This record gives sequence, structure tokens and C-alpha cells, in this order.
Amino acid sequence: MNSSTNDEHVRPHTLDQFVGQEDVRSNLKVYLGAALERGLHLDHTLLYGNPGLGKTTMARILAGELGVNIVCTTGPVLERSADLAAILTNLSRNDVLFIDEIHRMPATVEEILYPALEDFKLDLILGQGPGARTVKIDLEPFTLVGATTRIGLLTSPLRDRFGVICRLDFYAPEELATIVERSARILGINITSDGALEIGRRSRGTPRIANRLLRRVHDFAVVGRQEVIDSQVASRALKRMDVDPLGLDQMDRKILDCIIRQFAGGPVGVKTVAVACSEEVRTLEDIYEPYLIQCGFLKRTPRGRVATPRAYEHLNLPV
Ligand code: ADP
Repeated sequence: MNSSTNDEHVRPHTLDQFVGQEDVRSNLKVYLGAALERGLHLDHTLLYGNPGLGKTTMARILAGELGVNIVCTTGPVLERSADLAAILTNLSRNDVLFIDEIHRMPATVEEILYPALEDFKLDLILGQGPGARTVKIDLEPFTLVGATTRIGLLTSPLRDRFGVICRLDFYAPEELATIVERSARILGINITSDGALEIGRRSRGTPRIANRLLRRVHDFAVVGRQEVIDSQVASRALKRMDVDPLGLDQMDRKILDCIIRQFAGGPVGVKTVAVACSEEVRTLEDIYEPYLIQCGFLKRTPRGRVATPRAYEHLNLPV
């Protein structure tokens, strides 16, 4: 089994199986109930938050709870308006269209989405030059669920067309432990609650990472002939993987170390940090920085990134 099928295996299918994000969950429950009661489509919904926090999972759950089909695509794949038009015209009544990384959708494609979202109509231009003509096509009512890691990069006309906007936050270690225990049950892995909590604590607040660490810790347990994963087995394996007690990995520490040693703790521009760490700016901004900021190790200031005294302490470096 490869890791993506494993991911699919442990993905929750109902709102009740979805752990954490209480506010988002209880509000969505209300909107879903109302849509079902009226027999109408759910309002267009935007989910934003870091990678791996459950946006795709939530979109699938919404479709499942509504009892409709879900069609999944991503912003960068929709290169031409015709790509989106083909998808929209194939949707059935009240279906969910899920667009991941919606902030990366080309502007020309975004424009044909506006009338589709507002009036369920498509304005298509057929032909080119003086012979070109516009045709209006009626669409079935549908729900767009957009997901983004960067709500700030969404144009305001697009953002304004979402009736529901939900932010997914980092998860608490106990919530991640619950997710790990559930995944372990599904995958037939024997783990104690202490073991699950140890993994939960070191998963950077992110379910996808928690599930990944569970599988890797399980590998160590199998090879080490450990039948049960307890906190000791988990913490030994995580140490071998270079994941520290707060969940920081080699790259996180490299980023902090670089800001502190090479740039005297900052402020230093993100592009410079990216070059110094041989990493892409987008990966730094989307994957690494949010958790470092959340832990209080890093600050984004107008003049650049600054390492906090906590970061010095964590790396055992003199302030
Ligand atoms: P995103 O779309 O935000 O990048 P995903 O929805 O793909 O994240 O979630 C990554 C994995 O984490 C999924 O395979 C799912 O199993 C797990 N997951 C995410 N959120 C939850 C949750 N709230 N409860 C249980 N598992 C979750």
C-alpha cells in the first residue's frame, strides 16, 4: 500500500468522525442541516488553513453529508476557461465542486466562475474575432468548496462570493492523539494512549503529519519487534527521525539556526533565508513558518524575519 492509499484509508467520512475544529464543525452542521431541510444546495464555502489540516477531508465530508457527488480539481490545473466550463456543465443538481489551491486559479478562469457562482449561469464566448458570439448556458445549482493556504492571495470579488468562510487552525496534541488512535485502529496498529499522545505532541499541530509519523513509528516498532507502541517506543523512533520534542524537524531547526547564526537573529528577508537554507520561498512561507510562528520561535516583521529568545533557548544558543 502506498502512502496516499493509506491516507485515504484513515480519512474521516462524517462530521462526527472529524476530530477537533469545534467551532467550524458545529457551524457547518447548522448550514448543512438548513440546506438539507430546504432541499437546496449548500452556500459556497471557503476553507482556509495550513496544508494537512483537513480542508480536502472536510470538503468530502460536506458532500457525503449532503448525499451528493463531489468533483475535485485544483486551481493550477484549470488552465483554460474551457476546462472549468466542461466541469461545471457536467455537475448534477446540488453537487459539490471542490477546488483546492483556489488562489492559484488563472484570472481568466476565475472570471467565468463569477456568474456561475452567482446565478448558476455560464457565459461562454464561441469563436474568435468579429464572428465571436456569447452563449449563456444554465447550470444546475451547485456548491463550490474552495480551499486555500493563503486567503490573502484571493481576489476580493472571488472571496466575496463565498457565503461561508471557515478557518482551520492547528490541532491540540490531545486532538492529534485521538486522530492517531483512530488511524491506528483502522490500520491495525497497536498503540497505547501515551504513545499516541507522544506522536500527537510532535506532529506540528497537523493531522497529516500525525498520520505520517504514526506509520514511520510503526515501521521502527515492526523492525524492532515491538508489539505495542508506547510512549518510549514512539519517542525513541521520533528521535531517530530527528523530530524533536516540539515536533521541529531538521529543516525547522536549520531555518532558526540560519537566522540566528548567519543573520544575528534578524531581521532578514524571507528570500535570503530561503537561499541560505536551499528551500523555496513558498515552502518556507506555507509549510515551515506558520508552525515556527505558532510556537513563538519566529516573528514576521515589516523588515523581515526575526528569531525570538525562545528560539535561542530551544537551540541552546546564547542570546
Ligand atoms: P488539506 O486538504 O488541508 O491539505 P487533508 O484534508 O488532505 O488536508 O488532510 C490530511 C490527512 O489528515 C487526511 O488524510 C486525513 O486522514 C487527516 N485529517 C485531517 N483532518 C482530520 C481530522 N479533523 N480528523 C481526523 N483526521 C484528519
